[in-house]
Amino acid sequence: MTDGRGNVSHWNTARASSETMDHFRVADALAALERAGEHILFNPGQVNPVFFPRGGEEALALLRTLREMGRLTRNLGDICPPHLFDFFLAHSLIVPIAPPTPAPGPCHCQSAGGLASARSLYLLLTHACNQACLYCLDGQSTYHEAPTLVMSAAVARDALRTIAESIAVNGRMEVVFFGGEPLLNWPLAKEVIRYCEEELKPAHPGQTFTYHFTTNLTLFPDDLIALARRHAITFLVDIDGPADLHDRIRPLKSSGRHGSSFRKSADHIARLRDAGLEVGLRATVTSHNHHRLLEVTQTHKALGGTGSAFVPLNAVDSDEWIMPLELCPDPALYAQGLRQVYRERIWPVSALFPFSEYLSRLRPDYRSGVACGAPLGNTPVVTADGRIFSCIYLVGIERFTLGDLTRNDFPRPSVMAEMQEIAGRPTRPECADCDFRQLCGGGCPVGKFIIAGNPQATPAIRRYTQDVVCATSKTVLTELLWEQAKVAWSNPSEAS
Ligand code: SF4
Ligand code: SF4
Repeated sequence: MTDGRGNVSHWNTARASSETMDHFRVADALAALERAGEHILFNPGQVNPVFFPRGGEEALALLRTLREMGRLTRNLGDICPPHLFDFFLAHSLIVPIAPPTPAPGPCHCQSAGGLASARSLYLLLTHACNQACLYCLDGQSTYHEAPTLVMSAAVARDALRTIAESIAVNGRMEVVFFGGEPLLNWPLAKEVIRYCEEELKPAHPGQTFTYHFTTNLTLFPDDLIALARRHAITFLVDIDGPADLHDRIRPLKSSGRHGSSFRKSADHIARLRDAGLEVGLRATVTSHNHHRLLEVTQTHKALGGTGSAFVPLNAVDSDEWIMPLELCPDPALYAQGLRQVYRERIWPVSALFPFSEYLSRLRPDYRSGVACGAPLGNTPVVTADGRIFSCIYLVGIERFTLGDLTRNDFPRPSVMAEMQEIAGRPTRPECADCDFRQLCGGGCPVGKFIIAGNPQATPAIRRYTQDVVCATSKTVLTELLWEQAKVAWSNPSEAS
């Protein structure tokens, strides 16, 4: 296959003979990105981009001419030489005229026969925490109920049993220890692992169990390394910047004069890494660090993280209180920071979130959908008192309760249906005409959930949730598309 300059491309091995041109047409929509005279063309409904260091405008004009002429026929060979036809076809700019495709079947994450192939169960081991982060989502009334909620072994076992029974015989269960600060209830974490290994696994021999901590890691139980090694426990720790920044945003509750949360977390990350354990690092992006994302990711690297993730502030806490707008990152600065981080090549793309997430969508057969497991009940969060919420960002919000262990009613179909409907709504009015709509899918729908039905959501905060999710999709996809198309153009054999 050749591009507009006669170079060989192996992006896609699909091929059509010029003899069969009458079975094809130009794609319904054609998207073009332009940067300093270079172009990328792609079909927004079936993305397989092609890079034109020059000549992209001509190719686009030719495709438009072909579309105006309708169905491609053999006598169009003069207008569209066979090698170019094949090239356009390989990149889905020309597509087969086929009978309407049947509606897609269930995706791999949807329940089959009522059972899911995989679920991540978040256990809130305790609602208490030893830090006082400026943006903590744990509201006073729904999280820090007095006395402070601590999960019992009976609730944890009930939760594990319930979720294991909702997963297919050969399915996967990821147990995520969450809080508050889950290491404040380390004895229960150990009991959970013992219960899974000694009782649940024999009862569900085809299922796979993995363990993960989302922790501030300012605590470090003596036997943490031994247990983590034995069960390949992975860790995710939030580091919001270098020490000065992190300590300001995520202070310890009783810090005294020398108590640096950064120092404690950093020392403990080093101990885990020295023991050969995986520690992913993430930053919550707020107005405090939105202009320092490069420094943040360099800090992640220096600390020995296995990856670096950026997640913009969620604007509503568990009491459904709206975060102050001054705390929210500026979407434009956040986008600029993401671009800078990506272009510095500090991490492979697979270790840099959200780029890693969007990269998995850049394949010709990718079909858009709601890229979120919450409406399918795949990320259940169990509170210390046994209520089951659909997502860690929706804990405390009653209308997103997926069940209650005491009622044995997980997952509630009406809540799942309502969440799917909300998640499927366009993020903003311009989504319908957006070239990225196929790959974006509206982005993470958590902003839609927290805003839907919240009377306190001001127009400004609604705009923030829309803008920040759109900024993520547009920035990440633009960077990835340019990179991918250029790599394919300059290393055709590697791109096959
Ligand atoms: S570490 Fe997590 S739970 Fe604790 S205060 Fe910070 S954001 Fe809240
Ligand atoms: S959220 Fe933004 S990037 Fe995504 S489809 Fe809508 S307009 Fe396009």
